[in-house]
Amino acid sequence: LTTDFHYNPLYESAQGQQVPWTPVELTDAALALDDAPRIVARLQGAEHGHAMLGRLAIGDRTALSESGIVCRRAYDTQAHEWGLGLHPASGVYYLVTGGPNMVAWGRPSVGGLVGIAHSHPRHAIDPVELTKNGLTPNVAVVLGEWVNGMYANMTISVMPGDLWALFPSNQDLMASYATAHPVPERVYLPWRIGPDGWLSNSTGPTLVVEFGPVRAALRPDAAKTARELVVDPKNDQAVKLAESRCLRYLYAPVSFRAGTAVLKTGFLQVDALKGTDRRDPQNAWFRAQLPAPETLLDRAGVERFIATAVNTH
Ligand SMILES: [Zn+2]
Repeated sequence: LTTDFHYNPLYESAQGQQVPWTPVELTDAALALDDAPRIVARLQGAEHGHAMLGRLAIGDRTALSESGIVCRRAYDTQAHEWGLGLHPASGVYYLVTGGPNMVAWGRPSVGGLVGIAHSHPRHAIDPVELTKNGLTPNVAVVLGEWVNGMYANMTISVMPGDLWALFPSNQDLMASYATAHPVPERVYLPWRIGPDGWLSNSTGPTLVVEFGPVRAALRPDAAKTARELVVDPKNDQAVKLAESRCLRYLYAPVSFRAGTAVLKTGFLQVDALKGTDRRDPQNAWFRAQLPAPETLLDRAGVERFIATAVNTH
């Protein structure tokens, strides 16, 4: 057991003195709330963090004790999300507990951390629903039917057996766009991939989906909308409202992996609506191709588009 992560630079004293810091004691997974993310441990680095999330996502609570995190009772690691956060100034990685639906990176309790990866909690997927719909219970095969097979162009929200839960949520893409996340993010899913290519609770590597960077496509009337809503370009509220009304879809490359093996790649297209993470499937499509690159903008590009539209009355 290594103990060099029991020090937290977020709590460093003004004199630069290193203040000893003990990881949080975890008592009850049901107490983890969406609005109250907590830093629970300092990690050895990115690799340590990804390994932890991969184990916590599939219910392996020994990942906690091995990293010096105390659990009083049997802690259900699949009851809420976990986050891997980077403190950019110090380069230090932290393990964060999120809530049942999200890791709210913007809250003061985890302020200053950039979300690198998160896990999704337990979700029931019924293979019987797949076979009723003529599909083989094989993750790569079913994803193939949606990316360029017989279900291409159908929203993933209609996937039988709740299989849409394999994808990053619409809110995941929105959060990534809003923070202008420059590199792909990982979501550790609450299943392994068994030797038969289907979801397993007991054998095989953790199923991971990597997504990003996220780009936005604007509504056809975006320039007109921006001019109508933004009278004063210095009014941040008006600019923010215009931005939300101008977005049509968000797009991100996605790659599903079991360990290092790539199962399926494609592009996720989602409605640019603000939804609550993972409560309901929202309209989203798994695409084989992206629209023309000149129609896709990062957040800075959207802000420039609005500024230009407002200044050219
Ligand atoms: Zn998520």
